[in-house]
Amino acid sequence: GETIGILGGGQLGRMLAMAAARLGYRCHIYAPEADSVAAEVSAAATRAEYDYAAGLSAFAANCAVVTYEFENVPVAPLTALGAVPVLPHPRALETAQDRLTEKTFVTGLGGTPAPFAPVDSREDLRRAIATIGTPGILKTRRDGYDGKGQWRIMTPADADDLDLPDQPLIYEGFVHFSAEFSVIACRGADGAIVYYDSPHNRHKNGILDISAAPAPAAIEAQVPAARALAAKVAEALDYVGVLTLEFFATEAGPVFNEMAPRVHNSGHWTIEGAVTCQFENHIRAICGLPLGSPALAADAVEMRNLIGEDANDWAEILKDPANRLHLYGKGEARAGRKMGHVTRLAFDD
Ligand code: ATP
Ligand code: MG
Ligand code: MG
Repeated sequence: GETIGILGGGQLGRMLAMAAARLGYRCHIYAPEADSVAAEVSAAATRAEYDYAAGLSAFAANCAVVTYEFENVPVAPLTALGAVPVLPHPRALETAQDRLTEKTFVTGLGGTPAPFAPVDSREDLRRAIATIGTPGILKTRRDGYDGKGQWRIMTPADADDLDLPDQPLIYEGFVHFSAEFSVIACRGADGAIVYYDSPHNRHKNGILDISAAPAPAAIEAQVPAARALAAKVAEALDYVGVLTLEFFATEAGPVFNEMAPRVHNSGHWTIEGAVTCQFENHIRAICGLPLGSPALAADAVEMRNLIGEDANDWAEILKDPANRLHLYGKGEARAGRKMGHVTRLAFDD
């Protein structure tokens, strides 16, 4: 089989490598960590710690195609690779890794994000709050995940008390939503798009807690408009692979939160809960193979993340034979760290 290069060494890379192995491919991981949980299940790994840009082309030279499971990698060296295809295209990565670029791009395609304004100074923040109002959320434009790099601003006085971090920021109006959901789509090399059932996503402390499909009717009603936006995003970026868009369901329709140019935590339920999981379809797409069915393989499915010490209860979780347990092989159960997840399928009688 051919070799697939994966940038990033976390659990998403691990699950991609496992799906790739099933199809006879070998994976090679490019990541800074010495103890990458993706490298453990892959053929080879290269540490990128010392010089990401310089090491990248030697890494890619051994690969038939390069993909990524992590957004916070420099784009320029990827664009310069030339001979080896990078899928999804680096432009998707570039768009998604900056919240300002991403929201501006999606607005241009007819999507509706929360009102937003860039913030590079205290004066910008005052002006943004005067225009958009409170409550709102100040976020770093880059590098945020699991709710990190975010500050809730309930009153203008909160903003005055804040020590502004020295990096580009964005202020967003707070969205009063009834629920959150995601669109998980996969676009093949031939342009065909498949959509998974949109899961209802619930968060705890800014981190995804539970994803469940099918979603309640109030979400289902907003899925067609959300999918139409995802299709526009995918086509505009000539996208190949799995693409995820997060939404708030509101009285006025779906409000776009953010996109991820990759497989997504809210799609982990697809491993058991769909005919073809998101990881396999991503591999199929970037390898130019036909996509598999995204259809639900049960009447309902629920995925719960195991965060930090939650994962220490794994023996307890296995006492229920209906639980499907996934542990990522991470050493230390630090608070807020994604250690694994549990999936349950349900069948109507
Ligand atoms: P992820 O791990 O999904 O990449 P992230 O760090 O990029 O997370 P966001 O998705 O921007 O963070 O925000 C995390 C959560 O905070 C959202 O899922 C939502 O629950 C809440 N949130 C974020 N922005 C807003 C907003 N403008 N209005 C209301 N709630 C919000
Ligand atoms: Mg995010
Ligand atoms: Mg998010």
